[in-house]
Amino acid sequence: MTFDPNAKLDPSQVEDRRGASGGGAGAFGGGGFGRNGFGVPIVVGGGGAGLVITLIVIALYVFGGAMSGPTSSSVPAGSAAAYDGAQVDGSTVAQSCRTGADANSRTDCLVVGVVNSVQSYWSNELPARGVAYAPADTVLYSGATQAGCGLAQSAQGPFYCPVDKKVYLDVSFFDDLHTRFGAQGGRFADAYVIAHEYGHHVQDLLGLLGRSTANTTGQEGGSVRTELQADCFAGVWSDHAVQTGYLEQLSTSDIAQALDAAAAVGDDRIQQQTQGRVTPDSFTHGTSQQRQQWFTTGYQSGDLTACDTSKGNV
Ligand SMILES: [Zn+2]
Repeated sequence: MTFDPNAKLDPSQVEDRRGASGGGAGAFGGGGFGRNGFGVPIVVGGGGAGLVITLIVIALYVFGGAMSGPTSSSVPAGSAAAYDGAQVDGSTVAQSCRTGADANSRTDCLVVGVVNSVQSYWSNELPARGVAYAPADTVLYSGATQAGCGLAQSAQGPFYCPVDKKVYLDVSFFDDLHTRFGAQGGRFADAYVIAHEYGHHVQDLLGLLGRSTANTTGQEGGSVRTELQADCFAGVWSDHAVQTGYLEQLSTSDIAQALDAAAAVGDDRIQQQTQGRVTPDSFTHGTSQQRQQWFTTGYQSGDLTACDTSKGNV
């Protein structure tokens, strides 16, 4: 994945909290919000707190694996996924991420570029379908930060918080994708992760996140359907990414990176690795095969209406 080096980035869409107090995952070990809510279906009552909790549960575990317990955030030097080891220099995205050339050389600027492209696409596409697009910022943080849904911790992986309408991302997850989940990683794998989160924002705008069945677990449950649709929306953006003006033509290896990442975070693969067996009743995101299939559906159709995961078998 290569950005047009001359593309102008808008770093204001990314809130850079990496230098803020509150960093350092160790200071926030244990606890956190919603972790023990995993696997415990919460019945949606008459809205209010119950609804908020439900939405939080939906928002969490976006790439699964948060149940696997504490993980090391250290990344071995020379990791294949660590294509940019020079990103942490104390500067902010506002200072450093101005052009596509910056996005080609720095991971944090890659985030800015992908966020810009994804929002450019949906801010045109949704109004064409009669739905207003409200921009959603991505919060870059390191270790932990306060989110509208509670404390965000990097071990949770990236998530979309429907309360404050923001995506929370510690870029160390991109390395985790490789070292912890066994994905090959790569720049378009990272782009897929971001586009998936914005898929949840689009679902939010379409009124699809608050459904009473949205957090039910299991192979054909609401949670899996919600997550697979976000994968599909990521595929839809991928199909139109070049048209947004930020990216140069995608290659087959770019798409392969996204599919590989989608497979790496499938429930069946993660469960096999973490618990040694697969328990479909507790699926929340879908199998590797399902995640690849729905990304592909979005990518090949380029049409969000192809992403209706609400009916039939998924
Ligand atoms: Zn998700």
